[in-house]
Amino acid sequence: MHKISELLETGKVLVSDGAWGTYLFKKGLLSGTCPEEWNLTHYDDVLEIAKSYINAGSDIISTNSFGANVFKLSQYNLSEKLSDICRSSVEISRRAAGKDKFVMASLGPTGKFLIMGDVTSDELYDSFRQQAIAFETSGADAVCIETFYALDEAEQAIKAVKENTSLAVFCTFTFDKTKEGFNTLTGITPQQMTESLILCGADVVGANCGSGFEDMIEIVNMIRLVSSRIPILIQANAGLPTIENGNLIYSETPEKIKEIIPKIIDTGVNIIGGCCGTTPDHIKVIAEIVNRYNQKIK
Ligand SMILES: [Zn+2]
Repeated sequence: MHKISELLETGKVLVSDGAWGTYLFKKGLLSGTCPEEWNLTHYDDVLEIAKSYINAGSDIISTNSFGANVFKLSQYNLSEKLSDICRSSVEISRRAAGKDKFVMASLGPTGKFLIMGDVTSDELYDSFRQQAIAFETSGADAVCIETFYALDEAEQAIKAVKENTSLAVFCTFTFDKTKEGFNTLTGITPQQMTESLILCGADVVGANCGSGFEDMIEIVNMIRLVSSRIPILIQANAGLPTIENGNLIYSETPEKIKEIIPKIIDTGVNIIGGCCGTTPDHIKVIAEIVNRYNQKIK
C-alpha cells in the first residue's frame, strides 16, 4: 500500500501544485529550447518553482519532466540524457518537498499517435519504462501521467509504470468543451477515460489543463457516474488565455477561483491543483479553502 493512497482514503482533500511550463517561461526559458534540460542547467530556478508551491501549501508537487520522453528529448539531441533529466527532476522536487510532502513525477504524452502509425506500442512502452524507473530510483511517490488524450498511449504508460515500479499511478486527460460535450483531441469522453483507466489499474484518475476551473465541475460529475470510489485529481488552467501585447493573459485570477473551489470540492474530488497560468497565489487560495474543508471533516 502506498502512503499517498492511505492518505486519500481518509477522505481529506489534498492540494497539488500549479503550472510549471508558464512559470519556467517567466523565469527566462526561451521557446524552442528544452524545458526539462533546466533540471541540469538551471537547478536553482527549478528548485525555486518547487519551493514556491510547497510554501503556498501544496501537499503534492510534480516535477519538471513533462516532456522528458525519448521522442521529445531527441528533438533537442537530449534523448541520451533521459534518465539524468528525470532523476534530477525528482531530486529537485524532493528537496523542496522534504519527507512530509509527496512528489508526483510528471509524465506527458509523446506527441506520437499509435493510430497514425507514428510509433509502435513497444517504442512507447520502452520510453515510458525508462522514465518510470528513473522516477522511482530517485525517490518519487507517484507518477502523474498527464495531459493525455489517447487511450492506447495512456495504456502503454500505465503498463510501463506498473510493470517496472511500485509507484502509485495517477492519470489525467485533457478535455475540450465541444457541441457534443467534453472530448479529448481523439474524441474520448470523461466516462470512456474513467472506464478504461480503471481497467488499466490507475490509482487516481482525473482531468488537467483545458478551459478553466468551472468546467471541471461537470467533468468530475461525469467521472463519478462511472465510479463513486476512484480518487479524482483535477488541475485546471486559469481559464483560456488571451494574448495582450504579446503576453499570455489568463482570466481566472486567484480572487476569481475563490467561489469555484468549494463547488469543485462538493463534487467529490480528492486532489485539486492547477495547470497552465496558475501560480503559487492560486495554490494559496486553494489550500486555504481545502484546509477549512478538511478541518470540518476531521
Ligand atoms: Zn495546462
